Amino acid sequence: MGERTSPDVLLAQPRGFCAGVTRAIEMARLALQRHGAPVYLFKEIVHNAQVIDEITAQGGIFVQRIEDIPLGAVTIFSAHGVPPTIVAAAHARRLRIVDTTCPLVHDVQRQAERYSRLGHNLLVIGRAGHEEIEGICGAISGPHFVIGSRDDIDALPLTAAAKVAYVTQTTLSMEDTRELIAALEQRFPLLEGQGLGDICFATRNRQRAVRHLAARVDLVIVVGTRNSSNTLRLLEVAADQGVPARLVESAEDLQVQWWQDVQRIGVSAGASTPEHVIREVCARLQELGIGVVRELPGLVETRRFAVDRTAETATSIATA
Ligand code: SF4
Repeated sequence: MGERTSPDVLLAQPRGFCAGVTRAIEMARLALQRHGAPVYLFKEIVHNAQVIDEITAQGGIFVQRIEDIPLGAVTIFSAHGVPPTIVAAAHARRLRIVDTTCPLVHDVQRQAERYSRLGHNLLVIGRAGHEEIEGICGAISGPHFVIGSRDDIDALPLTAAAKVAYVTQTTLSMEDTRELIAALEQRFPLLEGQGLGDICFATRNRQRAVRHLAARVDLVIVVGTRNSSNTLRLLEVAADQGVPARLVESAEDLQVQWWQDVQRIGVSAGASTPEHVIREVCARLQELGIGVVRELPGLVETRRFAVDRTAETATSIATA
């Protein structure tokens, strides 16, 4: 009987940090550099434990409530965006705001406001309770409903003739969202919306890369934090391809028994996962007896978002 060879690792491309996350972290770094510690961060700037730890070590203080921030302090809003009520509360406390909301999240917020102003009932497709959804819903004065499932569509108190439009969260699964939009189109013939156009390029690229990866491996390991929407979607994409998928937040979470009968392991990472954490996972896999680590050829993202180097943005109290 031949000796069992150890599995190899294929790395998805693209994986990890997207343009919006890179920008948000750079703006936080600049704010700390310019103003010194402490700088306050309202909610997690991006959903990744290592990023939170690194910013905390540099003097960032994460808070869940605006009231917990001292009057006039430098305050960073997360890449997921905030509702206008939070901006107003921040102004009332004379906070100096650094708004790292991803420009693509801003685009969805603006589109939602436009539909609402035009008198549409707005359907916000996404995960209830996620900061991005709260930011979008908070920006709308008219009727709106969060849609996370077919059951939510069935429960809508709207007639077929209602004026209805939708937007979607930027980090959803393309497949699931396509199905929900198809169900909405059946129910509301006058439905307006941009199809899958609100799902951002980074989410699409990482989902396509994982689909490509899953066709070539027997196990997919996704590196990221449990409350990261786009990370969880990558796990689902792999599982939908019939490939077992495991989430690890760091190298310490790896378990040898996952790859007992496996020839090839695929590794990818959510858009908020730093590359050094992915590298640590690969290094640990090799310590645990894995063979070669190779990067799959794939799309190289070149899109970047400009960093606001003035740090305190137009929403700052100085201009309020
Ligand atoms: Fe922006 Fe997309 Fe990255 Fe979210 S995942 S920060 S929407 S580029």
